[in-house]
Amino acid sequence: PQLANQIAAGEVVERPASVVKELVENCLDAGATRVDIEIDKGGAKLIRVRDNGSGIDKESLSLALARHATSKVTTLDDLEAIMSFGFRGEALASISSVSRLTITSRTEFQTEAWQAYAEGSQMAVKVIPAAHPIGTTIEAVDLFFNTPARRRFLKSDKTEFTHIDEWLKRIAIVRRDIHFTLQHNGKMVRNYRPANTQAQYLQRLAQISNKNFAEQAIQINCEHDGLKLTGYLQSPYQPSITLNTHYFYVNGRLVRDRLVNHAVRQAFSELSDQEQPNYVLMLDLDPHQVDVNVHPAKHEVRFHQSRYVHDFILQALQSALSQLPQ
Ligand code: ADP
Ligand code: MG
Repeated sequence: PQLANQIAAGEVVERPASVVKELVENCLDAGATRVDIEIDKGGAKLIRVRDNGSGIDKESLSLALARHATSKVTTLDDLEAIMSFGFRGEALASISSVSRLTITSRTEFQTEAWQAYAEGSQMAVKVIPAAHPIGTTIEAVDLFFNTPARRRFLKSDKTEFTHIDEWLKRIAIVRRDIHFTLQHNGKMVRNYRPANTQAQYLQRLAQISNKNFAEQAIQINCEHDGLKLTGYLQSPYQPSITLNTHYFYVNGRLVRDRLVNHAVRQAFSELSDQEQPNYVLMLDLDPHQVDVNVHPAKHEVRFHQSRYVHDFILQALQSALSQLPQ
C-alpha cells in the first residue's frame, strides 16, 4: 500500500501548497472557525496546520492515515451533489507516504488528546497520549524526503511559499467567517480576521487584493430562480487598476470559467475600455445543476444550462452598474 500511496501522492501532493490545501480543506470540513498555518522553508521543512474544529476521535486517528478513509461520502447522491471539499479520502494517506506526518487531536467527547504517526517501512500507525485543545493539528515534516526526484522539483522557498500564500488568498476571500493566520519561518505573514460585517470584509479584500479596489468596488447581490450572485466588481467609472483580482467561485469553489469573464467584459464594454475588470464573484446554485471536475488540479465546471447562467450573471452585473452614479 505504501507504493500505491506514493503514486496517488503524485496526484494529490505536487508541492507544499497542495499539502496546505488538503489540510486546510479538512479543517473547514471539520467546522473549524480558526485555522493557523505554520510554514518553514517554503514548506519543504515543515507544514503545520492547526484548527479548532470537531477533532478526530482516538479510534478514527489511525484510520485517517489509511487510504480511502473518507468519512464524508456515504451515498452516490453525496458524490453527485458534493458540497464538502474532500471526498476522495486519500489526501492524508498520500501526504503521510511522502513526509513524516503527525496528527494530534481531541474531540469534545474526550478528556485527553491523542497523537498518531506512521512509522517504519510498513508504516504501522502508532497512537500515543498527547496534549491538545479541542481540534486538530497536523504536521508534515520533510516533504518528499523519501522521493528525492520529486524533492528536486521544488522551487525556491520563496516561490513555494508564494504558492501557499496565493492559495490562502483564494480561500480567505470566500471563507470570510474563518480566522486564518499564516507564518513563514516563525514570522506572521498574514492575519485574516473573521469578517462578519461588510466593513470587515472590505478590509480583508484590501489585504488580499488592493486598497483601491476594496474602496471603489461595487457590491453585487442578485438572486433569481435558484441562482445567486454576490461579491464585488471594479467600477467602470474609476481609473483602471492593474491587478490580477479575478476570483470566481461556484458553490464556494474557485473555478476558472470563460463564462464569467465573458459576462464581465460584456457588462463593461459599453461603459469603459478597461479590458480586464477586476472582480470577486460568488455564484451559488443547486449543485445538481453543475458538474465539478473531480481532478484536484483542475478548477473546471460545466453548467447544465450554461447560456442561462451566463445571462443571469450578465444581467446581475448590468443592473448593478446601471444603478451607479456616473
Ligand atoms: P477526505 O477529506 O477526502 O475525507 P482526507 O484524507 O483528507 O480524506 O482525510 C481523511 C479523514 O480524516 C477525513 O474524512 C476526516 O474524517 C479526518 N480528518 C482529516 N483532517 C481532519 C481535521 N482537521 N479535523 C477533523 N477530521 C479530520
Ligand atoms: Mg480531505
